[in-house]
Amino acid sequence: MYLKSLTLRGFKSFASSTTLQLEPGITCVVGPNGSGKSNVVDALSWVMGEQGAKSLRGGKMEDVIFAGTSGRPPLGRAEVVLTIDNTDGALPIEYTEVTISRTMFRNGGSEYAINGNTCRLLDVQELLSDSGIGREMHVIVGQGQLDGVLRATPEERRGFIEEAAGVLKHRKRKEKALRK
Ligand code: ATP
Ligand code: MG
Repeated sequence: MYLKSLTLRGFKSFASSTTLQLEPGITCVVGPNGSGKSNVVDALSWVMGEQGAKSLRGGKMEDVIFAGTSGRPPLGRAEVVLTIDNTDGALPIEYTEVTISRTMFRNGGSEYAINGNTCRLLDVQELLSDSGIGREMHVIVGQGQLDGVLRATPEERRGFIEEAAGVLKHRKRKEKALRK
């Protein structure tokens, strides 16, 4: 399984429909400051169901919709389509290629679709949850955080790994129970 393409339409700075073709392995997005590199990463979290405006570097959810520039009026909707190669069947669905899309209108609400069929957020979450890229199962290290990771003490570094692996909450619970 690998991410095959990502299409942004009216998402943040991507007013015109823009498709990034991805290959298996590592992808690098390069470009000048403010050219939209982080917006591409935001689009990826958003289409997978991200619900927090802060995680998307905005104040409110509508901030993902193209807000307009001096030469171009604002748009009324944002749409992101993620295509995943599923030839290895890692996703529990009978398709070798799976598209997940999310659309949001300025007057609120998100619509999700899997392979063009409208579905709920829960369906997207369930589809991704066993694949290693579902909610809380992928890790996005934000700008500036990398420095923190490189400078961390061994204890702090262990904390990052535990958080990424999802065991931190269990350790905290255990520590709390032992204190009683
Ligand atoms: P850096 O190298 O500094 O990290 P970057 O390539 O990651 O830059 P982004 O943060 O992805 O840049 O893009 C920032 C740009 O996106 C800004 O110019 C900002 O105005 C624009 N932008 C963000 N949200 C919207 C929106 N809703 N509508 C229009 N433009 C937007
Ligand atoms: Mg950035």
